[in-house]
Amino acid sequence: MSQPHGFETLAIHAGQEPDPVTGAVVPPIHQTSTYKQDGVGKLRGGYEYSRAANPTRTALEECLAAIEAGAHASAFASGLAAEDCVIRAVCAPGDHIVVPDDAYGGTLRLFRKVLARWGLTCTPVPLGDADAVRAAIRPETRLIWCETPTNPMLGITDIAALAGIAHEAGALLAVDNTFASPYLQQPLMLGADIVVHSTTKYIGGHSDVVGGAAIVRDQELGERIHFHQFAVGAVAGPFDAWLTMRGIKTLGVRMDRHCDNAERIADMLTDHPRVTQVLYPGLPGHPGHEIARKQMRRFGGMISFRVDGGEQAALDVCSRSRLFTLAESLGGVESLIEHPARMTHASVKGTPMEVPADLVRISVGIESADDLIADLTQALS
Ligand code: PLP
Repeated sequence: MSQPHGFETLAIHAGQEPDPVTGAVVPPIHQTSTYKQDGVGKLRGGYEYSRAANPTRTALEECLAAIEAGAHASAFASGLAAEDCVIRAVCAPGDHIVVPDDAYGGTLRLFRKVLARWGLTCTPVPLGDADAVRAAIRPETRLIWCETPTNPMLGITDIAALAGIAHEAGALLAVDNTFASPYLQQPLMLGADIVVHSTTKYIGGHSDVVGGAAIVRDQELGERIHFHQFAVGAVAGPFDAWLTMRGIKTLGVRMDRHCDNAERIADMLTDHPRVTQVLYPGLPGHPGHEIARKQMRRFGGMISFRVDGGEQAALDVCSRSRLFTLAESLGGVESLIEHPARMTHASVKGTPMEVPADLVRISVGIESADDLIADLTQALS
């Protein structure tokens, strides 16, 4: 039989052979910090200390590499830990990064408030504008950082085109694929060099674990990221790795339901008299719709919308919803609602990356669509 390669098959089996000792179908949680050596340096399975590697984390990493069509994956304690490690493994002080002018607020904070002190400079650019990206590139540009769809404005960037621009300039392209998940979009197949995830979101899928991942096509780059992670720490613990792997098994079916529900809700919001704009790449009027159709299987479960009446009206919608829980984060089976300007993106207030005050962001869960629509309708009334 040829090697299985269907997405759902890989999500369930990659890295997850039944345990050779007990036959356990599910890989065990190897809750251990260290490993007995049979003589100095004589390791049984290649494991010596769990900051370097742990069998449960290895299983997750093999699965992540398979579902992102990569050669190497590292699993981290959080999405931001993965981002920080990737950037420091690729760049040196004095280097320059082109960053999106619209991205998760914590990512922009990492660039502006942490990595800037380490001697990295960055230029925020609308990544959809190829001329602006080319103009921002300098001789010391090592990396272009991309998020698509973006958090929270749901902007879309053409990954293949951006990879071309990065490579022409001798830089690497890193894509934060958190919003799409590898079921909907595989940036490495489109020419990106590095994919990062907050696995806290769709990959984990149940709002019960914080984690991150970096996946690459090039084995040598993967080993460099792994070495950096080993030297610094920020690894995923065994139980967190196990929970994340458990989540991945249902990623495909969950994403299809997230998309079904989001498509219905986007239509309902488009027709609602109190909603002035709906940001969802699945809508034909979205400026990135055609590119999204080309590079994504479907359009995802995240929607942002602007409410007539300014900030107070947006805050009222967030506090009136019941089934949509008012909370940060996204990508779990339960629906969440939030006000980006005061919550997830508060750290970019007063900068060119500030988000509109009348914006509401929803993470559409996999509950019954009729109940979700009824809840939003009453929250908007
Ligand atoms: N990237 C995106 C798109 C996110 O939405 C988030 C968190 O919300 C992160 C990265 C950071 O991930 P974590 O919270 O797991 O550190």
